[in-house]
Amino acid sequence: MTEEATKVWLPDLVYVDGTFRSNLEVVTNSEGQISSIQNASKGPWIRLKNKAILPGLVNAHSHAFQRVIRGRTEYRSEASTDSFWTWRELMYQAANRLTPDDIYAASRMAFLEMALTGITAVGEFHYIHNAQDGKPYDDPNLLAKQVIRAANDVGIRIALLRVAYERAGFQKESNPLQNRFIESTDNYLKNLDTLIHDVKKESDLSWVGAAPHSVRAVSLNYLKEVSAFATERNIPVHMHVAEQPAEVSACIEEYKRSPVALLDTEGILNDHFTAVHAIHVTSKAVEALALKGVNVCACPTTERNLGDGVVPVDEYFRAGVPVSLGTDSQTQIDLFEDARELEYHLRLQRKSETSSHQLMNTKRRHCLVVCFSAPH
Ligand SMILES: [Zn+2]
Repeated sequence: MTEEATKVWLPDLVYVDGTFRSNLEVVTNSEGQISSIQNASKGPWIRLKNKAILPGLVNAHSHAFQRVIRGRTEYRSEASTDSFWTWRELMYQAANRLTPDDIYAASRMAFLEMALTGITAVGEFHYIHNAQDGKPYDDPNLLAKQVIRAANDVGIRIALLRVAYERAGFQKESNPLQNRFIESTDNYLKNLDTLIHDVKKESDLSWVGAAPHSVRAVSLNYLKEVSAFATERNIPVHMHVAEQPAEVSACIEEYKRSPVALLDTEGILNDHFTAVHAIHVTSKAVEALALKGVNVCACPTTERNLGDGVVPVDEYFRAGVPVSLGTDSQTQIDLFEDARELEYHLRLQRKSETSSHQLMNTKRRHCLVVCFSAPH
């Protein structure tokens, strides 16, 4: 790589300390890294007119391989019965076709698109572990490592959130299309432990977290073991929570509690926990999440694409719950558009532009602050 000279950039605005400021110059060193941000000197600068410089964005929830089904699940059938669950069957079919090389290529494509929209760190919720016959590869972390390599090659940081998947659901027949995801508790914890060790050794741009898929896909005992392991190793836990009404009703049927109530009463919630989606929640659940310091991740494009519902971000912000954003199914990779969608969804839902707008003035600042913090 050729060495660059020190450069001084002067955009109209620079985002520092939680706000946009003008008359600041950004100095980059010979390796192209920012060495200082300071009051504008007399130049010479590279002038960036009509431009703002922002810190890199964090994409807190991604399934990189789902990039391959973009545009292939969006049609209206004659029967109009398409739903989250029919989308999921199509996604499973794609997941079952991909070879390790395909996983690398699809992930690299998704991560490249992320880099082009200003994303510099991704929380990758990775759940394809096994070979196409459902058996583990010689290295059970082969596919996780393919995804990490893709992020490293593109140059974005990655938190590989290794997914625990046990079953089709409460009182549900096993689904052969989930065979590439499923591992026993012992195997999952062993493979997670090995991955933490291997990643720490190889790259300081990558780290590992635990991701019990959902209360549907992981039984309570399994979930408790994963949670205890994560606490002991001080790693983050991400989990799909209350994305679909059917998931909430199945949880109530199995445990007589909603997903958030279950996680709360079983001691799973803490400030290392991120609840992805958390759409179908009561005010009491919002309070419980706030009390335990839980983070919520909204994925507005996917949530509208799959008809999941709207994350009640106004309620979360009122309660002091931090909210991050994720591109999730990669239908669109643009976190600024996701932030805008979230605001528009709430305007539609609350039917009140003014009050919603006032709320969002506060929310925007929260949103931005959260986006710019690295996943822990
Ligand atoms: Zn997801």
